[in-house]
Amino acid sequence: MSTPADFDLKERVRSAVDILDVVGQGTEVRPQGRNFVVRCPFHNDRRPSLTINPERQSWKCWVCDIGGDVFSFVMQRDGVDFPTALRTLAEQAGIEVDSFRRTKKTKPGAPDDKPTLLAAVAAVTEAFYKQLESGRDADTQLAREYLEHRGINDESRRRFRIGFAPDDWSFAINELAKRNFAGDVAEAAGVAIARQSGQGYYDRFRGRLIFPIHDLQDRPVSMGGRVIPAIADRNDGHDAAKYINGPETLLFRKSNQLYGLQLARDAIRTGGEVLVMEGYTDVVAARQAGIEPVVAVLGTALGEAHVKILKRFARRVVLVLDGDVAGQTRADQVLELFVSADVDMRILTLPEATDPADFITDHGRDAFTELVKNAPDALDHKLAKQTDGVDLRKDTHAATTAMETILAVMSKAPQADLRHDQLLVRLSDASGVSVDRLSRRLDVLREQAKKTRPGSSPTGRRTGARPIGTISRAQDDVNAMLSGAADDFDDVDGWGSAGNQTVRERLIGLQPISGVDRELFETLIESPELAAMAVEAIDPAWLSSNTAQMLLSAYQDLDLAGKDLDVDSLLLIVENDQLKNQIVSLQQRVDQRAGHSADEVDRRYTAILTRYRESEFALEKNRQIERLASATMADDEELELLKELFDAERFRQGIRPHDET
Ligand SMILES: [Zn+2]
Repeated sequence: MSTPADFDLKERVRSAVDILDVVGQGTEVRPQGRNFVVRCPFHNDRRPSLTINPERQSWKCWVCDIGGDVFSFVMQRDGVDFPTALRTLAEQAGIEVDSFRRTKKTKPGAPDDKPTLLAAVAAVTEAFYKQLESGRDADTQLAREYLEHRGINDESRRRFRIGFAPDDWSFAINELAKRNFAGDVAEAAGVAIARQSGQGYYDRFRGRLIFPIHDLQDRPVSMGGRVIPAIADRNDGHDAAKYINGPETLLFRKSNQLYGLQLARDAIRTGGEVLVMEGYTDVVAARQAGIEPVVAVLGTALGEAHVKILKRFARRVVLVLDGDVAGQTRADQVLELFVSADVDMRILTLPEATDPADFITDHGRDAFTELVKNAPDALDHKLAKQTDGVDLRKDTHAATTAMETILAVMSKAPQADLRHDQLLVRLSDASGVSVDRLSRRLDVLREQAKKTRPGSSPTGRRTGARPIGTISRAQDDVNAMLSGAADDFDDVDGWGSAGNQTVRERLIGLQPISGVDRELFETLIESPELAAMAVEAIDPAWLSSNTAQMLLSAYQDLDLAGKDLDVDSLLLIVENDQLKNQIVSLQQRVDQRAGHSADEVDRRYTAILTRYRESEFALEKNRQIERLASATMADDEELELLKELFDAERFRQGIRPHDET
């Protein structure tokens, strides 16, 4: 949660930038009443759907159901966390960020301090880079020769900051020690490994070419090392892995990081297409051949989190697969992603036993571009594979089997009706089976899938809401969880089943705010002066969703910090972009209604309180009745409890003579 100093910094930044400039940057901004509209960058928007409210400095796309303030826009646009968005905007506005405060209670120099780790990774990648550029020893010479042998030129070496890790157990550790970084920082940064003896650390990358991995702010966050055969042969020989990647750290998660994205982003935006490859050298080779919108996954399959990032920049994702067996398996898995992610996903399988780098070297850029242009989408690819030359319209058995496989994949995906309808039409065309029959079969499979899924039984005492996070989780924890929302996909291979949550729910992790909770917060937004009372009067345990609890806790924090309890302050103190969206949605609902008189608002607030107390009372009564029924009480205790129940009921009736029921 933010401290008053953070709050002031945020306030300064927000008043220094205009949301219209930030959201409208590079697109046509049209006035609409008192608001403005632009084409939403987060979905395939044909008409301007994203509304900007300059007065409130908020934005909202109802199609995507996302919105918020200028900070959450930058978070979504750049795929970054709150502190980064704040820093970006502060820099844009020319505000000194020296006073920038760390949001977590970490100390500079500590292994859990992000800025420290960023500095450590930057120092090591720079040292490796300089080593490759100007090292005089025989090994570095071998590394340079190998790079040349792979056809990577000097321009590419500089562009991708390729380096060389000497065949040494403590090169990186020493480089860091010179700059006063401790061994545990080297380990937390992913460049060193703790010795099993517990005594000290040794370098993770030794005798390898180093490909730094950058985030979207162009900061190195990790690195991958490629083996240099002449050096490996001398040591562990054939045992050496061809590539090793940095481990998962505070800075680096392979499930949502893409190699080369920081260099490819503009080209991807311009062309609307991105090529996803499997290795760093493929990306370097493609770029060197003049193919710019290229990225690579990092030792993992392309997953939903990757696609979510890519969809911000591209309409079309072309997965370029090596012509080996592993590549073929991935093509099968990608169908699931295609069905659920609502993105034009193409699959380009290269001829047997070639990778993109080989192919481009051997056949040239144009031949490669031609393959990309003609790549089938994931469904056609699967159909082609499934049928392997059989005419489905003639061979009904083959058709049924193929349809069954594909429908099974669709049944597991979150229901995207329009898209699924389109897919069914295509399946029908290919197989000759009617759309109606396919659709009925899909319904049956969906029902079956539902039954076998974990978590499909009703949960949640009062709401039936799905427990996405522990409700009582402190807001900081929830924020931490949500700011890495994409990480929630992080099952190792990225292909975990969807469960019974929709993709949106899994992304957001916030339970919908509804019923009396929603009335409460709408009332508080409409009438901030009531909020101070509510902070005292409302017990967080009464609220039905984590969203409502987080909102109340934000109000409490504002109250403690002595700030106004209005929407502007609320948006500033809340850093989570999804929660900001909820606030803006509530605000807009309030705006769309006719204003209430102060009396009406007061009456409504009182009625809300009464409803909370009523349901608490009912719960407490049930608990007491359960205790009575358990019959483990002494007689006098039982009598006492009965009397309590009776008194409480009398009291309740007494204070509410005009019961509306
Ligand atoms: Zn949108």
